[in-house]
Amino acid sequence: MKLYNTLTRKKETFVPVEPGKVKMYVCGPTVYNHIHIGNARPFIVFDVVRRYFEYKGFDVTYVQNYTDVDDKIINKAKEEGLTSEAVAEKYIQEVEHDAKGLGIHKATHTPKATEEVPHMVDMIQVLLDKKFAYEVGGTVFFATRNFKEYGKLSKKNPDDLEAGSRVAVDEAKINPMDFVLWKPKKEGEPSWPSPWGDGRPGWHLECSVMAKRYLGDTIDIHCGGTDLIFPHHENEIAQSEAANGKPFAKYWLHNGFINVDNKKMSKSLGNFFTVREITEEFPYEVIRFFMLSAHYRSPINFSRELMEAASNSLQRIQTGAKNLIYLHEHSALESMTETENTDLKRLESFKDKFEKAMDDDFNTADAVSAIFELIRFANTHVTVSSSKAFIQKVSDALQALCDVIGIDLETEEDILDSDIEALIQKRQEARKNKDFALSDKIRDDLMKKGIIIEDTREGVKFRRV
Ligand SMILES: [Zn+2]
Repeated sequence: MKLYNTLTRKKETFVPVEPGKVKMYVCGPTVYNHIHIGNARPFIVFDVVRRYFEYKGFDVTYVQNYTDVDDKIINKAKEEGLTSEAVAEKYIQEVEHDAKGLGIHKATHTPKATEEVPHMVDMIQVLLDKKFAYEVGGTVFFATRNFKEYGKLSKKNPDDLEAGSRVAVDEAKINPMDFVLWKPKKEGEPSWPSPWGDGRPGWHLECSVMAKRYLGDTIDIHCGGTDLIFPHHENEIAQSEAANGKPFAKYWLHNGFINVDNKKMSKSLGNFFTVREITEEFPYEVIRFFMLSAHYRSPINFSRELMEAASNSLQRIQTGAKNLIYLHEHSALESMTETENTDLKRLESFKDKFEKAMDDDFNTADAVSAIFELIRFANTHVTVSSSKAFIQKVSDALQALCDVIGIDLETEEDILDSDIEALIQKRQEARKNKDFALSDKIRDDLMKKGIIIEDTREGVKFRRV
């Protein structure tokens, strides 16, 4: 299994810190608004990474934080006349609603920054003791010059960074690249006690502390959007490695940007969509499927046409799965035939192709193609005369692969046999009353749901397509 490590800019073979276990940390959202499609991408792609490790038999511990204290939250609280706790609580619930809709498995731990402040104070103290930090009038800064490997993730050279930065924005800093670990309290803002006076932690610190608390000093995989590489992830490495004296994360995975109609997504261009807005037009499952139609590191272009294409593709898979259920119910043969036994090898080849794609840095685009090949195989090799045993094998193979991608094969529009029988009865009555407009409408409506009505000598029958 290979994954692209931003730290080395290479694809590397995955070797876990502890055999059989994967410790993953994903930077979560700052909770002051509904998540937009840019935030949804890491949620979805790293959920698939986790699901694939689980599919491979690894025991995954998945941590995703909530940044629930931040200037943006404080400003929103002022705007809405609420406390910042109320704003954060409200949007954590909104984020979780969207995450559930998008089929994201719940993280093992979802720590909130405000609940971890004493541990952050402890880490700052360690950094001060080890001379990786200094305090100036109630503000504590990280001393980037004292951490020799600063810049190793973003491949930025500290000398260039300093030369490029404007003359000391903050006079108190020794070095322009130094960043805040603790800032003093401002009137009307949330604050916590500390040896340097009341205040609140700098943003970068929470991830270092939470990763250590829930996963240990060295984790396997740290994930996030490409926009977080610098300074956020660079600073996380500096804090963690300086404090713990051990490597922080073995592998760094970063997802690519989202463009909207081939333009960068921005509020000023008016092409900035929240997930909730998109669900007015497309269901959550289509958003998820769309995000996985590209490799997670590539940029992805969001447009109505591509969402419609994703919706159609998803339906093809779901219809294929429904067909299998129908054929299984109606098959008269229990055990597998000779030919079916041979066909099983082909079935195995789709699974191999899927795993090969996923083993190559989680190439979901190719993995989804393998699912389509399986669907085409099912459509041509599974018929009414197939055995129950064979149909079950095909169904199970499809289910296993779809579970990794997170494709729900049981769609809500599922129409029950009893409902169809009732509609057929209604149609018969309409025909008796010579209401052909109604009888045709019932037939057409059923056809749209993939149900074909056939008038036979034994009476009216239906089949699913
Ligand atoms: Zn983070």
